[in-house]
Amino acid sequence: MANNAVLPVALQNKLMSAKNTSSGIFSATSFKYLRNLIFFLFLFRVTRKSFYTLRGNGVVGTLRNGYAYIRILFYSLFLRAPGVRGQVDKQVAETLTKLEAKLAPQTPGLIRYTGLPKQGWSPDQVRAELDKLAGMDHTKWEDGRVSGAVYHGGDELLELQTTAFGRFAVANPIHPDVFPGVRKMEAEVVAMVLALFNAPEGGAGVTTSGGTESILMACLSARQKAYVERRVTEPEMIIPETAHAAFNKACQYFGIKLHTVPCPAPNYQVHIPSVRRLINPNTVLLVGSAPNFPHGIVDEIPALSRLAVKYKIPLHVDCCLGSFVIAFLKRAGYPSPYEDQGGFDFRLPGVTSISVDTHKYGFAPKGNSVVLYRNRTMRAYQYFILPNWSGGVYASPSIAGSRPGALIAGCWTSLMAMGEAGYIDSCHQIIAAAKTLEQAIREHPTLSSALQVLGQPMVSVVAWTSKVPEVDIYDVADELSAKGWHLNALQSPAAMHVAFTVPTAAAVEKLVADLVTVVEQEKAKAEERRRQGQKVERKKGDAAALYGVAGSIPDKSIVNRLAEGFLDTLYLA
Ligand SMILES: *Cc1c(COP(=O)(O)O)cnc(C)c1O
Repeated sequence: MANNAVLPVALQNKLMSAKNTSSGIFSATSFKYLRNLIFFLFLFRVTRKSFYTLRGNGVVGTLRNGYAYIRILFYSLFLRAPGVRGQVDKQVAETLTKLEAKLAPQTPGLIRYTGLPKQGWSPDQVRAELDKLAGMDHTKWEDGRVSGAVYHGGDELLELQTTAFGRFAVANPIHPDVFPGVRKMEAEVVAMVLALFNAPEGGAGVTTSGGTESILMACLSARQKAYVERRVTEPEMIIPETAHAAFNKACQYFGIKLHTVPCPAPNYQVHIPSVRRLINPNTVLLVGSAPNFPHGIVDEIPALSRLAVKYKIPLHVDCCLGSFVIAFLKRAGYPSPYEDQGGFDFRLPGVTSISVDTHKYGFAPKGNSVVLYRNRTMRAYQYFILPNWSGGVYASPSIAGSRPGALIAGCWTSLMAMGEAGYIDSCHQIIAAAKTLEQAIREHPTLSSALQVLGQPMVSVVAWTSKVPEVDIYDVADELSAKGWHLNALQSPAAMHVAFTVPTAAAVEKLVADLVTVVEQEKAKAEERRRQGQKVERKKGDAAALYGVAGSIPDKSIVNRLAEGFLDTLYLA
């Protein structure tokens, strides 16, 4: 029998012995039926899976995925070959030693404390040491040369936040009866952000420790919803390739299969027909960014919403970065995404959850974000409840148990102190700066002939790439670093970006001037190389070295080792 081959041996044995004795409850023929039934169920599953894979990725895409898999397999074997392996190990070790020297320098005179002091320090001693720590040699964000990173709402706000911290330093919202003020503030923060993103009657949300947790919770809620309402046990999610890494993290943590959809030029928005093709009965969530981190591009949220409604699948819109800038575009007099098609938030019927980072453009202290849901049922899917715990009935809304009430107080303080007028004002500063840079890259003769803005940025991030071979974008990034800028290098496609904040907005003219200088230098260097032939060695900076290597090696194990080493470095005492 040909189909015996696919049945587990144990089952085959059972079937055979049943056939021989035929004295059980079942006769030999009914076992035959059972066997065929199991076989057809198995065949059905395989066929169904293959069908969705083929339809989702297309024939070419499936072949391409297979090829990529085989290529990586061979490359990783090559990296492990004798001779090659030692070389790789040596280079990884060298790079990590350099990294350690940079991030955790063994400066003479810098005392390391790796055990508790025998006697506690005096307040003066602690203060003096804190001053030293704050003053350690660092990249200066204060003069506006660091992209993103510091979302600063001004010194006065900082002082108010410090007051709020002091008042609520011991507060923990897990005890609402002990800290009723914190419970009230948290509920109000959620209500204010729900209103900003046009939540309908019945909209609900929670505060979290940051954008990543907000995204993790939205994915968990979607997974649970699909399990409870549709018994989906092999959940899948579809995200744009430009979506934040937190979605990959969620899939890894929560055992969700991830489909990543290309965001092709010239718009760099998620390719809607590809999203549609990947939808199948296991799909638990669609995702769009407004805007995404790499390119600052808002995906076509109305089209995603239509898919979500048609296939009855939840849609998460990641407004972590957009936060209080995208929400105030209209009121600040700028074009707001898809205003003619219902916008990008809960006004669209398919949007079921939105993540908003109050610790970005809400200027709340770090460790603050909000995840919003269309209704309370969806919020409840992220709750954790243990009714029979020996420690008592346990219920917590999100990942953490105990949470810092001080941070909630800091967030509430920021929202109340800024007010609508404050956010409209900061929106003006940030968007004006982004437009200034975008326009310079598109129109300045030096810049427009070498660089290309990616898509149509509408919010605070502007990304650009090089459109001529003589200007390597990673060299541009490294030269700007040498001038004290701290911008982001991006990969696939090779590009770089700046996320404007209030401090960086003030420095935009300087950025344009430095960019012009750097591009002129790069062009001159290319000219020099051309005249002298290829003899002149090109000196590679950090970005060029890392992304040059990362881009040329299909197997990411080396990049993984470097990244792991980087994380280890963070804990060098
Ligand atoms: C910053 C950001 C997040 C979340 O990041 P956290 O660092 O966890 O706050 C999510 N999505 C986008 C687009 C972001 O820019």
